[in-house]
Amino acid sequence: MTNKQIAGAFDELANLMELHEEDDFRIRSYRNAYLNLRKIDRPLADMTDAEIKSIKGVGPAIAGKIRELADSGKMATLEKYRAQTPPGVVDMLEVNGFGPKKVRIVWKEMGVESVGELWYACNENRLVEYKGFGLKTQEDLKNKLEYYLKSRDKLHLDAAEEEADFVCTWLSGRLPGAKIAVVGELRRRCAVISALEILVAHDGDMAPAFDGQTLNLEEQKNDVYLARLENNTQIRLYHCEPAAFGSKLFKYTGSTGFIDAFVKARPGLDFKDLDSEEAVFSKAGVPFIEPELRESGIDIASPPVNLIVDSDIRGVLHVHTDWSDGLHSLRDMCAHAQSLGYQYIGITDHSQSAFYANGLKPDRVLAQMEAIDELNVEMAPFRIFKGIESDILNDGALDYDDALLEKFDFIIASVHSNLRMNLEKATERVLKAVSHPRTTILGHPTGRLLLSREGYPLDWEQVFEACVKHKVAIELNANPYRLDIDWTLIPEAVRRGIPISINPDAHSKDGIHDIRYGVMVARKGGLTATSCLNAGSAEEFLKFR
Ligand SMILES: [Zn+2]
Ligand SMILES: [Zn+2]
Repeated sequence: MTNKQIAGAFDELANLMELHEEDDFRIRSYRNAYLNLRKIDRPLADMTDAEIKSIKGVGPAIAGKIRELADSGKMATLEKYRAQTPPGVVDMLEVNGFGPKKVRIVWKEMGVESVGELWYACNENRLVEYKGFGLKTQEDLKNKLEYYLKSRDKLHLDAAEEEADFVCTWLSGRLPGAKIAVVGELRRRCAVISALEILVAHDGDMAPAFDGQTLNLEEQKNDVYLARLENNTQIRLYHCEPAAFGSKLFKYTGSTGFIDAFVKARPGLDFKDLDSEEAVFSKAGVPFIEPELRESGIDIASPPVNLIVDSDIRGVLHVHTDWSDGLHSLRDMCAHAQSLGYQYIGITDHSQSAFYANGLKPDRVLAQMEAIDELNVEMAPFRIFKGIESDILNDGALDYDDALLEKFDFIIASVHSNLRMNLEKATERVLKAVSHPRTTILGHPTGRLLLSREGYPLDWEQVFEACVKHKVAIELNANPYRLDIDWTLIPEAVRRGIPISINPDAHSKDGIHDIRYGVMVARKGGLTATSCLNAGSAEEFLKFR
C-alpha cells in the first residue's frame, strides 16, 4: 500500500466514525493521522515500528493500524465501520463538500441510503425541512450530486496509466507471446478516462487471462471481454488475431467521430486485416496521425505535426517549496530539477493571502529571494528564477504592493479563493489580473479539479484578447487533477500567439514529474515546442516575462 492509500484509510475511518457519532477525541486523532501521514516522504511500509511511532500524531494504536494496513491491505476497525454502514451511505461521504454530519441526517432522519435517491430527494425539495439544509444548501448539494454521479467510475490520467500498466504486465505474464496495447481514451490521452481499454493480439484463447481474482471476467460478447480488477476498476479487453493487430489498434484507438470521418472520407476502402497502423494510414493515402489527435473535428488530410515531446521542456515553472505548502526544501526542489536535466526552475510559493498554505509575507519573500541568490551562485549554470504564485484577490488585484511585485523575476497569477463566480464576475476578475504589468502567466485558468469540482466559467474571447494585449502566457497546469487550461482551447490560444506554459505546480520533488501529463494533453491540443513558453531557453523566458 502506498502512503496515500494508508493515509486515505484513516480519513475514511474518521468520516465513518463521525457518521456513527463516535468519540470526538478518537475521530480527531485519526483525522490528524491522515493529515500527517500524507506528508511522509518514505514509504511507511518500509519503516520499522519505532520509526512509525516517531511520526507526529502517531501513537501505539495508530502505529498498529498502519502496520496492519501495510501488511494486509486491510484495517479491522475500518472494516467494522464499513460493515455497519450501507454502501450507498459510504458513497455519500465521497461527494465533495458533503460532510459526515449532514450525511447522518440524510441517512438517519430521512432514511435515504444512496446518492441517486438523495438527488431525487433534492429534486422534490425534501431536504429544506431538515436542520442545516436551506434552499441554497439543497440546490448546491444537488449540483454536487450530479457532478458526482457523472464522474463516478472515471479515472484521472495518472491513475488510469497505473492501472493499465498493471493489466498489461499481468496479461503478458498470463498470455505469453501476445501483443498487448493500450487503446481508447488512455491512448488518446484524454484528460479523464471513463473506460480502460486494452487490445490483445494472441493466437490462443483468452481464458488464462482471467483468474477470478486479480482479473475477474464479468461478461463476454464475441471478442470483447469486460473484466474487473480486485480494486473494482473495470477493464474492457479486445481480442484479435495477430495479423489484424494494426487494423484493430486503429479501430479501437480513435474516437467514434474520428473513425467515422476517416472511413467516410475513403469510400470503398476497407481497413481490415492489416498488421500495423502505418499500413492503415498508407492504404488510406494520408500521413500518420498521432493517437492523441484522433478525435472528431481533426483535419485528416493535414493534421498538426511536430507535436511537443517531453525532452523539449527546458524549464520547470510553478514550483512550491517548504517556504509555503510544499513538502521539500528550496534546495531539494532545485537540485531535483537539475538532476532531471532541466536548465532552469521558477520558484513560485504562495503569496500572503493564502494563509492556509503558509503564504509568504513580504519579509519572507525578501528572505527567500536572498536564499535564491545564494543558490544561484552555487548551482550555476543552472538558473533559479524568483517567482511567486500570487493570489488573484477578489477584486482582481495581485497580492503585494507594486514595489514588491517589481522585485520578482516572474509572476504566476492564480485564483484560489471565492471560486463560486458567474461568467461576468470570473471574467472581470481574471482580466484585471492579466492586465497587471507584472503578471507573466495566468495560472490554472478555470480552477477546475477534474472529477471533483467544475471550474468557474470564463469568456475566453476576452481572456485571450487580454493575454495578447498584455503579453501574458497561459498555464497548462500539468497536475492530472487539473490539466487546466483544457486542451480544446490550446489551438485558439496558439493561433493568437499566446505561449502555453506546461507547469507541474509541484508541491514535492515527485510533483515535477507531472510535467509529462501536461505534455500528453498539450499534444492533444496540437502544441509544438515553439508555442510552449518553458520549452524555450532561460534567456528566451527572461525576454518574454
Ligand atoms: Zn495554485
Ligand atoms: Zn501552485
